[in-house]
Amino acid sequence: MLKRYLLAPGPTPVPHEALLAMAAPVLHHRTPQFAEIFRRVAAGSRELFGTRQPVLPLASSGTGAMEAAITNTLSAGDRVLVVSGGKFGERWAQIARTHGLEVTEIPVEWGCAVEAAQVAAALRRHPDVRAVLMQHSETSTTALHPVERVADLTRDSDVLLIVDGITSVGVLETRMDEVGIDVLVTGSQKAIMLPPGLALIALSDKAWAASAKSTLPRYYFDLAKARASFAKDSTAYTPAISLIVGLEAVYRLVEEQGGWPAVYRRHGILAEATRCGVRAMGLRLLAPSAPSPAATGVWMPEGMDAGVLTRYLRDVMGVTVAGGQGQLEGKIFRLGHIGYADTFDVIVGLAAVEMALKHLGADVVLGRGPAAAQEVLLQMYQG
Ligand SMILES: *Cc1c(COP(=O)(O)O)cnc(C)c1O
Repeated sequence: MLKRYLLAPGPTPVPHEALLAMAAPVLHHRTPQFAEIFRRVAAGSRELFGTRQPVLPLASSGTGAMEAAITNTLSAGDRVLVVSGGKFGERWAQIARTHGLEVTEIPVEWGCAVEAAQVAAALRRHPDVRAVLMQHSETSTTALHPVERVADLTRDSDVLLIVDGITSVGVLETRMDEVGIDVLVTGSQKAIMLPPGLALIALSDKAWAASAKSTLPRYYFDLAKARASFAKDSTAYTPAISLIVGLEAVYRLVEEQGGWPAVYRRHGILAEATRCGVRAMGLRLLAPSAPSPAATGVWMPEGMDAGVLTRYLRDVMGVTVAGGQGQLEGKIFRLGHIGYADTFDVIVGLAAVEMALKHLGADVVLGRGPAAAQEVLLQMYQG
């Protein structure tokens, strides 16, 4: 028997409370029962995003909400700045170009965070910029970008700040309104601990004003229509009913277990423990200077292929971790510690990596990674 462990930065494991809620017979969505669930989910999502705006649920993966962010606020020919330091930054640029926008990329070395000064310089060089598009947590490189410092540059201007928070919302405290994020998106299969298929998106007043003037075509992802339905505790089209039911269960579970602050604290400890474990094994971190608390990227030992490691972990040991994407393929692997992840997931991941590396002939001493992580993980049970 092979017991399976899912330790990737998405999709992530789903707690049994949510699985059970979603196993109930499907409700009709135009009913008072569903409207009540919808209202509770709406309140929970506002708290999660740190906003007083409606957080609109879309039946799509996260990329659908990224596209909606662009098509609802911009017009063909508009110039946008894209922070491009990984696969998801590249995705912003691709979506924007697909819709006829003028894209100016701010290139960032993969594994590094953008510097706010780079964004400031680009904004000075291109006074016609309408929006800055960035990730908060660039999952492909496990780097964390300084959204708050970029918001300092856009907050009091007409430039929109459009943020992919797909692996930061629910991992780090998010204060959309206070920070001045104009469009924020996330997806269900990462920190939100649900299966894929639901995205959440919210717009600031500035973004709603831009939306009224934007002329890119949209139909399914017309957020003005979504907002009008939201005001009636509903959605324009059939929602991902079971996932919304699951989201209610997740919000209840989080509340019962100390609220979001406890979730953020746990992610911080798991990430720190994973980094200490990786270093104790003698491996190098991909994003040492600005690491994301969602996942940890690790360089392979010299001359070894990460694909061989991740396949061995998955197929022989039952442990699914992520490999590298794009230019990092084969060179790195990523340990997720996002969503329904705890102390012993970190131990399993580090122990499995050590054993797999040893099997593949690397020079590792068994136990060093987990031991270093355990020292950090003791914090989980203090205070
Ligand atoms: C997973 C992820 C996406 C893509 O989301 P899909 O749900 O696969 O469409 C986009 N951005 C980031 C930062 C992600 O981690």
